[in-house]
Amino acid sequence: MKSIVNAKIVTDKDVLEGYVLTFDKEIISLGKEVPNNVEIVDAKGLYLSAGFIDIHIHGSNGYDVMDATHEALEGISKSILETGTTSFLATTMTMSQEQITKALHNVQTFKQQEGAKVLGVHLEGPFINPIKHGAQDPQHIQKPNMELIEPFMDVVKMITIAPEVEGGREFIEQIEKNFPHILLSIGHSDASYNEAKESFSWGVAHSTHIFNAMNPLHHREPGIVGAILEADEVSCDVIADLVHIHPSFFKLLYRLKKEQLILITDAMRAGCMRCGVSEVGGQRVIVKDGEARLEDGTLAGSVLKINEALKNFYEYTDKITLPELINTVTAIPAKKLGLDVGFLKKGYKADLVLFDEEFRVHRSYINGVKTKLR
Ligand SMILES: [Zn+2]
Repeated sequence: MKSIVNAKIVTDKDVLEGYVLTFDKEIISLGKEVPNNVEIVDAKGLYLSAGFIDIHIHGSNGYDVMDATHEALEGISKSILETGTTSFLATTMTMSQEQITKALHNVQTFKQQEGAKVLGVHLEGPFINPIKHGAQDPQHIQKPNMELIEPFMDVVKMITIAPEVEGGREFIEQIEKNFPHILLSIGHSDASYNEAKESFSWGVAHSTHIFNAMNPLHHREPGIVGAILEADEVSCDVIADLVHIHPSFFKLLYRLKKEQLILITDAMRAGCMRCGVSEVGGQRVIVKDGEARLEDGTLAGSVLKINEALKNFYEYTDKITLPELINTVTAIPAKKLGLDVGFLKKGYKADLVLFDEEFRVHRSYINGVKTKLR
């Protein structure tokens, strides 16, 4: 059993000083007294919060979920520890049925040794609209069907889908009825405002990288963006890298979405790297100055780190408090996906991160065990 002392503890509501967090594999208590017989960890004034959760990450440090090897999952898991991420959804791309099946099977059979926890899979495509494919290879887009994913329902936790495509409604209703734990997210979609709103009534409860791979907000056709901003119960996520959306939207989005806003990285193979040539979904990617683009200039995911996303969002959102900020990568995704992490509350898994004013990560714990940061 360990007790962390001398930390500024960021809970989902407050920043507490003079408190002690005690944990084993799970969080035992958050109080003012140090219990007997514990190992004391001096945080030396650092911030302490629940470990960060990234629900949209394709790769990092040269590895990609679509490599479909255990080595790749391990490589991603270990490298993102330095960003404060302690759990994530391994996110697939629109590739051939065979490659997606391999990637899903790989996650299903992965026995994790160390690194950030693989919570399951976020299926980004192939059930998307070719008009809004972004950096997803359009030749592999499929009509929504259960066949592809049925053997993997134990690992699929989130699906990004274009609800307006043929078979979209049936698929969404079937998932909602039989697998209600799966988070259905509108994205890479050409849906109108009305179509988006309708999809919320079928079971779509989230939206993937708002503004990206969907029509922009228009005052006579509010589109998906308008529908999301209006719907209090629908959450959305944002790539806060200052490239995918203008930072002035951070403030507006936070004002409107509050408890329904999640920060993601959408990081690809070159995540945690700075520049060079890389690859995503079988396509060549040039990484330069913190931007990852296909050869035709299309943004191809990001090289963003989640702690940088927090820093960016904090900088451009003047009224957000630190607990509100940290909730966007802890409590909110945890609630949305029904996870046993993301809160500094008794009974939750002791996934923790210690960071400084600049959001630099100094130390993290997963299930109460100190991780090895690179
Ligand atoms: Zn993505």
